[in-house]
Amino acid sequence: MNNPPLISLFPVSRRAAGRRLLGAWLLLSLSCGAGETGAPESPVPPPALGPSFARQEFFLHPGDTISLIQTAGDSPVPPDGWDLVSSRPEWFQVNPQGEVRLTEAALEGIRSGTLVSGEAAEVRARMGGVLAEGEGESCLVILRKDPRRTLDGEGRLRDPGDYDALVNKSRRLPSSYIPPDLVLVETPTCLEMEEVRKMRREASAALTELFRAAAGEGFTLVARSGYRAYRTQEALYNNYVFTQGQEYADRYSARPGTSEHQTGLVMDITSPEMNYQLEESFGETPAGMWVAANAHRFGFIIRYPRGKEGITGYAYEPWHLRYVKPALAGRLHSLGLTLEEFFNLP
Ligand SMILES: [Zn+2]
Repeated sequence: MNNPPLISLFPVSRRAAGRRLLGAWLLLSLSCGAGETGAPESPVPPPALGPSFARQEFFLHPGDTISLIQTAGDSPVPPDGWDLVSSRPEWFQVNPQGEVRLTEAALEGIRSGTLVSGEAAEVRARMGGVLAEGEGESCLVILRKDPRRTLDGEGRLRDPGDYDALVNKSRRLPSSYIPPDLVLVETPTCLEMEEVRKMRREASAALTELFRAAAGEGFTLVARSGYRAYRTQEALYNNYVFTQGQEYADRYSARPGTSEHQTGLVMDITSPEMNYQLEESFGETPAGMWVAANAHRFGFIIRYPRGKEGITGYAYEPWHLRYVKPALAGRLHSLGLTLEEFFNLP
């Protein structure tokens, strides 16, 4: 085994060496900088993973490459015997220079819609074939589509059918967009109109699972309002403008093309306890609290959370569930981010 000098500083077992890998590496960097620590003289400063790497999250855009290693001087990158390992090499590829990019299979998955933002790989340091252990010895590389590249010149989404499509007041759906696979949901509903009882197939199946899990905990949920066609939203908005004025309409209704309901990935939900209405107090009911804590497991997010009104442009809506697939929902839940924040939009 061709160990770098730090192993002679820390005579430990291979396994323990792995565990202390990054910490030791960082320590050595600092020692070299100080120059009078009594450590063996190192002819070249080692590359630094350290603070630039450990415990960090990096966002990777399709087609881009990110470098996880900062080099110092002319030292080899990574030094002899060291490399970085991806936990999902089928999608996230790390080359010997410590650069991460998506594989062709991943890019194809993005094109076909099976792979969405939020999928991630853990990248961990390895030396002489032994993986470093511990939280500080790895980082997370998260796939994130570049939201600027997903818009056309008119502020309309290029790929409105994406499960991670970000729709808001400045990112509109084309007026011609109708989701390709709308179905009637299988959960209980409380409105007669057929259109609003629809969702896209995958989202509908996930909603069924969510409601089933809620029922298992003793909570009865009811679907109220799902898909809304562009023309329906247009009529609704124009009616507000006609009866209440433009300002009121913009405050309480979405302009056509800017309603997430047109994606077919949204369902407003309620409960018998709420008398089937959509009100903020739903979030304080046991059922509403259970939904907020568990929806991500089924691929849903509370799209307009409390305290994020200035970011999403909408008041708190504990009833408005948006399907984004479990990977992204879980990521947003654990990071405590809205879609706008995740995509780093102003
Ligand atoms: Zn809604």
